[in-house]
Amino acid sequence: MTERSNRREFLSRATLGVAAVIAPGALRGAADVFGALTPEPDLVVFNAKVFTMDPARPRAEAFAVKDGRLIAVGTTADIRSLARKGTQSYDAKQMTVVPGFIDTHNHAGGTTLLYEVLVGNPFEVEFVTIASIIDKLRAKAHATPAGTWVDGYFFDDTKLKDKRPLNVHDLDQVSTDHPVVVHHRGGHTSFYNSKAFELAHVTKDTPNPPGGTFDRDEAGELTGRVTDRARNVFNGVGQRASFTAEQRAQRERDGLAHISKQFVRYGLTSVHHEGGDLSALQDVRSRGDLHHRVSYEPSERVLDAMIASGMKTELGDEWIKLGATSEHTVDGSFSERTMALSTPYAGTQYKGNITETQDDLNAWVEKVHRAGIQVNCHANGDVAIDMYLTAIERAQRLLPRADMRPKITHCTLINDDLVRRIKAVGAVPAMFTTYAYYNSDKFVFYGEELMKRCMAFRTLLDAGVPVAAGSDFSPGPFAPLMGIQGMVTRTGWDGKTWGANQRISVDEAVRVNTLNGAYASHEEKLKGSISEGKLADFVVLAEDPHTVAAEKIKDVQIVRTVVGGIVMYQA
Ligand SMILES: [Zn+2]
Repeated sequence: MTERSNRREFLSRATLGVAAVIAPGALRGAADVFGALTPEPDLVVFNAKVFTMDPARPRAEAFAVKDGRLIAVGTTADIRSLARKGTQSYDAKQMTVVPGFIDTHNHAGGTTLLYEVLVGNPFEVEFVTIASIIDKLRAKAHATPAGTWVDGYFFDDTKLKDKRPLNVHDLDQVSTDHPVVVHHRGGHTSFYNSKAFELAHVTKDTPNPPGGTFDRDEAGELTGRVTDRARNVFNGVGQRASFTAEQRAQRERDGLAHISKQFVRYGLTSVHHEGGDLSALQDVRSRGDLHHRVSYEPSERVLDAMIASGMKTELGDEWIKLGATSEHTVDGSFSERTMALSTPYAGTQYKGNITETQDDLNAWVEKVHRAGIQVNCHANGDVAIDMYLTAIERAQRLLPRADMRPKITHCTLINDDLVRRIKAVGAVPAMFTTYAYYNSDKFVFYGEELMKRCMAFRTLLDAGVPVAAGSDFSPGPFAPLMGIQGMVTRTGWDGKTWGANQRISVDEAVRVNTLNGAYASHEEKLKGSISEGKLADFVVLAEDPHTVAAEKIKDVQIVRTVVGGIVMYQA
């Protein structure tokens, strides 16, 4: 609607919005007749700077909500005129309103946040000391029987005040009676103490297995760092803290409820969950503690059950819906420098880790594609993206299916040929967003020439590829505004800028974090913009990210997060 359209047209449009909710299409064409029946909105939001992300009407001042849906979007005067006695009013006082943010790749590890030893800061850039890590783990070891694992989480190797790597000797100071492991937040490397190596029968002479490494120093001694698949030798070794089924379920529920609160605190209204306990998710929802919407991405066990029982992507409702598969891993990590590159890492012979053969990958993609489920693989390096595209192209040749939107989780390092193929198969990359700000200290390992082709938002948007935001929490912080700042500036916390050619505008970055996220889960008709008929998911920001200094975007306060017309967070 334009600002000039008259009131009669406006009312008819408002009614159309409702009609679309009640019975899609049923009242269409009869809107003028039913104009007088425009229902009493539950809520009107007015006097706002609304960035709708709806190409038909990019800006608005106000909107009305009924039964969790947007029924009208327009000017303050138009929308206020819809209010009746029972309508709640919210004067946004010229604050900015955007659609609720959507994170399309998140491990949503609430139990870790709630119950485990955190040796780094999950949400912000913060430097810690190796001594603090040792202290925290030692305290845990004192409360843990000998022989049982002591775990530390959210380690980040470039956020150490010590300016040297964490090593096996540091972790031997925690305990010589317990196996000790520190998990890098990136999820592809871990650091072990001597007891852990001893229990796993790994010595300095143990060869590296396919898809992983036991790192050694110049003298050939184990450093403690173990990458990707080499970590499998520690499975089944030592004792693990044990819980009853009921204790486990309770931890899962409380973890999900905890992280759901964190999501809405940062403005996220929809999150794609990598696996997790589906039963706990439903329990948390029914007890009223699910504040955000979930696209549930099944890991192998649930996926196999889905295939066996004929369940496809999109089964579910507006709160919990089956999405793509969880990421099927093809290569290593961007942040931990194990992703598969076509050229060696600077100053080494090492080209990263491929964790899957092409044949196995082809078979897996074909199996999922045949079942009518949206495929999703983790592919960071150009070599891995090429392998994944090869598998998709093969599956689509064997069984053409329209609009499958294969998801490429991370899709970090591209080249022109990959971009062409991504576009051709209709893939949706779910790319790192907060990394540009949070992980700028790691880009020196790749160098500017590669960084010009990493997290290539500009190139992919220009090619017409609907890239979405995928924080990859725990590896990356999930704050959407930190992500938007990084996408706009390409400048990190340390003031260094990498790959400035990939900068995008604030508007584009908001779209990546909203409408494109909805597209990634086939929900663009349901959410992702402030449009009549869509879910009333939106965020009120204290300042406008379009006009605030670009390096301050991440600090803009989230004033209110609303999901389905319900206030889920209020500052
Ligand atoms: Zn991931």
